[in-house]
Amino acid sequence: MIAKQIQSIALKFLASHKLSPPVDIKKASEIINAELVFIEMPKSVSGLIIAPTPDMPAYGISINSRHSHYHQRFTVAHEIGHLLLGHLEGSHPNITMFSDIQNFALGHHPREREANIFAAEMLIPTPHIKDIVFSAGWRDINSLCRLYGASQQAIQIKLKEIGA
Ligand SMILES: [Zn+2]
Repeated sequence: MIAKQIQSIALKFLASHKLSPPVDIKKASEIINAELVFIEMPKSVSGLIIAPTPDMPAYGISINSRHSHYHQRFTVAHEIGHLLLGHLEGSHPNITMFSDIQNFALGHHPREREANIFAAEMLIPTPHIKDIVFSAGWRDINSLCRLYGASQQAIQIKLKEIGA
């Protein structure tokens, strides 16, 4: 899937559920029937998805409680991306578990790249940041981080993308 299509899926998800920055990731998870669990995991693991079972009818999204707040938010959005982009379809329900290592940003697997594009758009919607930067004139990175609940790295990538 090309980036534009993925971004449009993320934007439609936000619009149809009236979510706007800073996006409430707990609410977003509830919308897709996923339960968030924060647990201590090895530093190298960002999060994982556990598919529903007869005993546990919701998806489980586990997030590494040892990571920073912004990192955790990105991971949740990334896992939501896997679900909404259909990456888990066709997997056996009892064994489905997507484990995401910390540097998924560098992942070469197409599904990881797609989930990252989705996450970046969900947390920092392109039309929104264009307005904020070009119309409202916001330039301070730390203010943008707080506004979107996203890391400096994520904001900087987005700023570059929109040509700011
Ligand atoms: Zn992933």
